[in-house]
Amino acid sequence: MRRLAILSVPLALSATLAAQTPRPGQPEAILIKAGRLIDGRSDAPQPSVGILVEGERIKTVGALAQVQGQSKAARVVDLSQLVVLPGLIDTHTHLLLQGDPTAESYEQQLLQQSTAYRAILGARNARIALEHGFTALRDLETEGAMYADVDIKRAVANAEIPGPRIFAATRAMAPTGMYPIVSANWELELPHGVQPVDGVDQARLAVREQVAHGADWIKYYSDRRYYFGPPPDSVLHSWVNFTDEEAKAIVDEAHRLGRRVAAHAIGSDGIAAALRAGVNTIEHGDGFTDSLLDVAAARGVYWVPTVTVALYVAAPRGGVWGPIPAAQKRAFQHALKKGVKIVLGTDVGGFPWTEVNQAKEFEYYVQYGMTPMQAIKSGTSLAAELLGQPDLGAVAPGMYADLVAVSGDPLKDITELERVKFVMKGGVVYLPP
Ligand SMILES: [Zn+2]
Repeated sequence: MRRLAILSVPLALSATLAAQTPRPGQPEAILIKAGRLIDGRSDAPQPSVGILVEGERIKTVGALAQVQGQSKAARVVDLSQLVVLPGLIDTHTHLLLQGDPTAESYEQQLLQQSTAYRAILGARNARIALEHGFTALRDLETEGAMYADVDIKRAVANAEIPGPRIFAATRAMAPTGMYPIVSANWELELPHGVQPVDGVDQARLAVREQVAHGADWIKYYSDRRYYFGPPPDSVLHSWVNFTDEEAKAIVDEAHRLGRRVAAHAIGSDGIAAALRAGVNTIEHGDGFTDSLLDVAAARGVYWVPTVTVALYVAAPRGGVWGPIPAAQKRAFQHALKKGVKIVLGTDVGGFPWTEVNQAKEFEYYVQYGMTPMQAIKSGTSLAAELLGQPDLGAVAPGMYADLVAVSGDPLKDITELERVKFVMKGGVVYLPP
């Protein structure tokens, strides 16, 4: 099924690309007839909407009859039987990873696959994400594949391969010995999944290097070695990787260079350290306590829960990973009550791109207590806010024409988002209706 879908795309894609090449100096106009529109910002859908797209942007959104009158020369894309939404955004992905439920699966990729081979799979993953309706990704580190995410981003931007808009974090950082691969044999120098960083000077240097090589975001690993405190504590704890001085140096240097910072933080100790350092986003955040949620809410720090991966690795990893999803679900429900900004991120790559549609994350958020509309906003307008991209995440005049459509009502059945029937990015149709 998956193979067929992938094979069928190149023909459709080349045909639509050819059909949509605008004449020089004259961007093509497309009138989209939307049966219903969920625009990513409003609390209710609007019936029978016209969306006029000119070139790569949306020009007009309004009542169909009205917009139709203004756009007689436009080519029509008829989505009158469908529900149109903004393109979906996943704020935690790994294009260069093909699932790493166990240490063996991770080491196999870093030791047996060249960066070139991994980048080819990354290009395939970019296409899968776009087919699934994800028109933008924040790719949160290459796991040893250096700056290959920036290369995939460039190939997409140059229209060499189909893919979402990519916001790349490049290599990420952890101190020496605190991230795989660490070998028991001291005679072997094995590849590292991150850039090893020790001390404040190296921290600043690493940020400067990564930004120089194209990093849009800086990511570091705040913690490791997760464990639950004995009852009555029962808090998910962790060992903190960087000293406060090192973590603050990373964040300060990134902010000085106009980059935001994402911290991997699973246990409460790692989350607390990341919040002290002033990061912009907490990744995973399974061990969020009420007091840490209060800090995140007060400071407007985003939480990217990556529920899909937590559930995917719980059984194969065993041990502490087993009870982590239940702890995270509790924290998620408290976060909703406290008004923490929860943004959709899946950690796809931590589970195979070819196995699970990353849009499954929406389903978990609804199961955990979000309304379907809240879940949709977490993966559209709120995700664009996290990215600092005011032209993404909503269907409104002036925004990039990144759109998807589904056949059923996602406000009644959120799993509709796992079956998108139409994908447009920047005014180009990648999946025709
Ligand atoms: Zn990740």
